[in-house]
Amino acid sequence: MSVHSEDYLANDVVDAEERADIEDDEIDSPTFLQQVIDAGLLISTGVDGLYGRSATFEDVVERISDLIGAWGADKPVEVLRFPPAMSRQVIEESGYWANFPTQLGSVFSFCGDDRSHQRLLKALDKGDEWTDDVHPTRLVMTPVACYPVYPVMAARGHLPKDGKLVDIFSYCCRHEPSKEAERMIMFRQREFVRMGTPAQVQAFRDDWMEHAKRMMRGLALPGTIASANDPFFGRGGKILADSQRQQHLKFEMLVPGINPNKPTAVGSFNYHRDRFSSLWQICLDNGEIAHTGCCGFGLERIALSLFRLHGFNPAKWPAITRNTLWGSRHV
Ligand code: ZN
Repeated sequence: MSVHSEDYLANDVVDAEERADIEDDEIDSPTFLQQVIDAGLLISTGVDGLYGRSATFEDVVERISDLIGAWGADKPVEVLRFPPAMSRQVIEESGYWANFPTQLGSVFSFCGDDRSHQRLLKALDKGDEWTDDVHPTRLVMTPVACYPVYPVMAARGHLPKDGKLVDIFSYCCRHEPSKEAERMIMFRQREFVRMGTPAQVQAFRDDWMEHAKRMMRGLALPGTIASANDPFFGRGGKILADSQRQQHLKFEMLVPGINPNKPTAVGSFNYHRDRFSSLWQICLDNGEIAHTGCCGFGLERIALSLFRLHGFNPAKWPAITRNTLWGSRHV
């Protein structure tokens, strides 16, 4: 099973001794997250993991997104954009509830009548429980940028002769509140999805892993690529994670710096085999089930890596980094 997630390796357990060291450090100096907020790059909303962004932060995020998107410039790519909420039914079909139940952000809404509305208002006034008439809608927050694409492609009928390449960008939601800057509840992914024969999808992923290394060099970020697994939930999760690693279905681009205890996964390169295509019946032009893969990047994580390693003022970043992101406009 290869469901894609922009995440750490599952083995990011910090033992008690390390924890004590971290807490000592926290007493001495503000966390990186606090520094980023103090610098005005991220804006606190009162909810851990949910932040506003400054113009400087957004400019960097947009340039990173353009840099990733440039890979598709000379290729037959279809650009698709979806809002940050998606069909609940598609998520129910996808297996996401089985694998990542704690991360899913479901959208609920008031569904009552006049009388239950009055009851809700009274409960709010009194600070009581007010959710009796608030129920799930047809929407969930999009957890992974590429999920909305698969049913859309399936509904079109067989893929074109050379398969399909799609450019995706979306805000994504993972309900995992955290004090760590890189673990946001709402963040953006820019990614490419390839649908075609196994050889086409694997060649796509190989090409992206090489391109991602060049991209990191261009940003003067010390990235390395390593085999990885998604953080599958529950007792069966470890088996799924081990299987994903053994089959080399997922690789991640890891950059040290943001978190002193572990490198941060800023990108992932996923081969789903026929998981999504069998689920939603995405077929090659000859009628055989296609294979799919996706290569995507967490834009905030790359931005935070740049701010962490090159400083909070982009005007003072290394020339190679500024040239890669802004070209002649900054150099
Ligand atoms: Zn994906």
